[in-house]
Amino acid sequence: MARRAMKTHKPKKAAKYVYFFANGKADGNRNMKDLLGGKGSGLAEMTNAGLPVPPGFTISTEVCTIYYKEKTKIPPGIDREIDEHVKKLEKAAGAALGSTDNPLLVSVRSGAKFSMPGMMDTILNLGLNDKAVEGLKSRTENGRFAYDSYRRFIQMFGNVVLEIPKDAFEHELDAIKKSRGAKVDTDLDEFALRELVERYKGVVKRKAGRDFPQNPIDQLKMARDAVFRSWMNPRAQEYRRIYDIPDYIGTAVNVQMMVFGNTGNRSGTGVGFTRNPATGRKEFFGEFLINAQGEDVVAGIRTPQPIAELQQVMPKAYKQLRDITTRLERHYKDVQDFEFTIQDERLFMLQTRSGKRTGHAAVVIATDLVSEKLITPKEAVLLIDPGSLGQLLTPGFDAEEWTKIPVATKGLPASPGAASGQVVFTAEHAVEWSQQGKQVILVRRETVPDDIHGMFVAQGILTATGGMTSHAAVVGRQMGKPSIVGAGALEIDEGKRQFRLGSQVVKEGDYISFDGLTGEVKLARAKSKPSEILQVLDGTLEAWESDIYKRFDKVLTWADKFRRLGIRANADLPDQAAIAYAFGARGIGLCRTEHMFFGEGRIPIVQRMILADNEADRRKALDELLPLQREDFYGVFKAMKGSPVTIRTIDPPLHEFLPKREELMVEIARLEMDGKDHPELVEKRRLLQRVEQLHEFNPMLGHRGVRLGITYPEITEMQTRAIIEAACQLNREGLKVVPEIMIPLVGSVKELKDQRVVVDRVAADTMKAHGMTIKYLVGTMIELPRGAMTADQIAQEAEFFSFGTNDLTQLTFGFSRDDVGKFLKVYQDRKILEKDPFVSIDVEGVGAIVRIGVERGRSTRKDLKIGVCGEHGGDPASIHFFNSVGMDYVSASPYRVAVARLAAAQAALQTRVGD
Ligand code: ADP
Ligand code: MG
Ligand code: MG
Repeated sequence: MARRAMKTHKPKKAAKYVYFFANGKADGNRNMKDLLGGKGSGLAEMTNAGLPVPPGFTISTEVCTIYYKEKTKIPPGIDREIDEHVKKLEKAAGAALGSTDNPLLVSVRSGAKFSMPGMMDTILNLGLNDKAVEGLKSRTENGRFAYDSYRRFIQMFGNVVLEIPKDAFEHELDAIKKSRGAKVDTDLDEFALRELVERYKGVVKRKAGRDFPQNPIDQLKMARDAVFRSWMNPRAQEYRRIYDIPDYIGTAVNVQMMVFGNTGNRSGTGVGFTRNPATGRKEFFGEFLINAQGEDVVAGIRTPQPIAELQQVMPKAYKQLRDITTRLERHYKDVQDFEFTIQDERLFMLQTRSGKRTGHAAVVIATDLVSEKLITPKEAVLLIDPGSLGQLLTPGFDAEEWTKIPVATKGLPASPGAASGQVVFTAEHAVEWSQQGKQVILVRRETVPDDIHGMFVAQGILTATGGMTSHAAVVGRQMGKPSIVGAGALEIDEGKRQFRLGSQVVKEGDYISFDGLTGEVKLARAKSKPSEILQVLDGTLEAWESDIYKRFDKVLTWADKFRRLGIRANADLPDQAAIAYAFGARGIGLCRTEHMFFGEGRIPIVQRMILADNEADRRKALDELLPLQREDFYGVFKAMKGSPVTIRTIDPPLHEFLPKREELMVEIARLEMDGKDHPELVEKRRLLQRVEQLHEFNPMLGHRGVRLGITYPEITEMQTRAIIEAACQLNREGLKVVPEIMIPLVGSVKELKDQRVVVDRVAADTMKAHGMTIKYLVGTMIELPRGAMTADQIAQEAEFFSFGTNDLTQLTFGFSRDDVGKFLKVYQDRKILEKDPFVSIDVEGVGAIVRIGVERGRSTRKDLKIGVCGEHGGDPASIHFFNSVGMDYVSASPYRVAVARLAAAQAALQTRVGD
């Protein structure tokens, strides 16, 4: 860009709440998103760069906070500051609000720090009234245009500010169209539109009980407050909840001179991306409408033309648009999503921001930008939202099966991915059905921001109208949801809950499938197959054959250079360990030995062990388990190729390995009916008796974890022996492994000491028997608050800690993990909890305990190795926290290893995506 933007905020002098931009100079710049919102900061930056931006001013997000703090009032001082800026704007525009010969019209636009497509409100054509409309008419010599603008304004203002339902206006519009024999809006002439304006004013009077406000300053202040109110509307709140955006940041309000894309066929409006946001391909991408106003494109009401066609219609404006957007991409070093309007062949830029994209596109774009030398690998690592990488692992259709099913119709491929499920027509049904465990595809004429909850749960989204930048497309891509839009052949009848496709009728509940990459829709259920990346990882596809795999691998290799945290995986079995290794995990943070007990043919042995009423019998069963466990450990060690493996000794309450009490009682009753001395009967009765003995009121707080090892040391003995024997065997084969034996649920150092004695004794015996010494570590899980609080003592016996944040969250909140579902949603709705603390670590509470555990542990053992093995180990926000407390590694489930690698790099670079 020609002019370099200022780096930082100005020092706070007198409070400033309004920021001007006009004629190549702006008060704000790109670094002021917190204060000006994304839109405001983009408008300022573009203005400073000398781009054609209609002048205006931004009312800062601080004013939004004040508005809510003052119980929806704006203090007079701020009102005055706004008035002054209106004067300045009038001067810059050479027009005046309400003027009868040259009226200034403005838009009043919402815009928060993070873009929230369509969630908040914007009002266009503000400033029109009964007099100004005549001024507009005489200045443009276009009465039709003037009255069309006025009626649009009354409609938008009536709906957004006065909260009059849209139908009330639509109803009048239809009536006029009918009486004039007009098919489409554009058939209405000036006189029809004049009549419509009168009717609309009548609607306002009837529905809002007041006259339509004629004073432009009143209009402006009412619109501004309505935008602030829209910050707290339910769909905006729902959106923020899904995307983890805090409520307190507020929205800015942008007041900007109107430019008109609807003055005739030499005008138009459009939106676009500098690269394809679905595939990432480097191609100019977008769409436009001739003779239309902004909202018409995104609303999905008219299906717009692809942007390439603009080149034929208005070659000069097209070239200028390409030049500007290319410059913007270079300047922001990222794909830009822009809005423009052409008024009588003159181009104006109305918005620019980093484009939302699919996970697939994110990886393609980041690697391309590095190849083009626009960004460094470090910047590339920061450009990708780690959460979106999961999309690259989602399945596609099996090509062979898919091609056999005939194509029913095609739409625009808005967001890639394979979707198959039952058709539903409303967001409510999507939610209801998916709660019943059904997989649904949400089919809508067009989606509206209120549909967000339904889109969230659907397998895919299919719409009949709208273009690649319609609401459904934008939101679908962001969610990584397969989406097809603008499938014009669908005749949807929401009332009848069906759609027609030529002669075929598809009813709610019928199966359909579609491919969001090609846009093909088929009327059948279709099986999908693993993503290319998984195919490479499991060896069914060669790495060099997959472009996306190579890019994915490149990004993660870059990430590895920047991260400080080690990445391990939670894996219990050799095949899981192998996939985790392929994903780049270098170590296992949690191997749950009891999961091995569920392996084939093992449960009867485990049950015999549990049923034994004396130690000798128990040992006999354990002897049978020993070789099986040894084999498992051998496999896991081998899959990890010498990287550390943390094995946890038995943890769950024993009754989990026995049949359910009720089931047993039913079986016994059946056997008793078959005849009294059924041989199985004795066995079953004994089992029932033991089940009843083992019954606990709160099993999660009962006889489990280290408590089992203390009461049945022979279990710890067997497991230790199996671990050490497997390690010895591998060492003999030339693979050096250092097992880490982890004792769970330790709250007191004495518990650990007790088990440590057992482990060390058995390990020594085993090594002696094998005639070799190997290195092994003994450590513990920190998952009880008491364990964290006494970590200094525990660390004297533990060579490593692994924070079990699932149990730690459960025990810190006192929320049962298995029962939290009953009230969590209510807690989130009431803002008692922002996030599910089992998904993303509660930094304030549980995090504080983790921090204490780390500090106290290291206070007595400087080189204490510390990691985390709860579900949080794969959650990007939590990873930032674990990085900040100085942990050594995080351990995630195998399929989240890639996410963790990238998040760990971003954490180390101290930046979060979107900031
Ligand atoms: P959103 O964030 O929902 O896109 P915007 O504030 O960007 O809302 O505005 C909605 C539409 O109105 C956009 O298409 C935009 O280009 C158009 N628009 C906004 N301000 C103006 C203006 N001053 N002149 C012409 N069109 C405008
Ligand atoms: Mg809008
Ligand atoms: Mg916009």
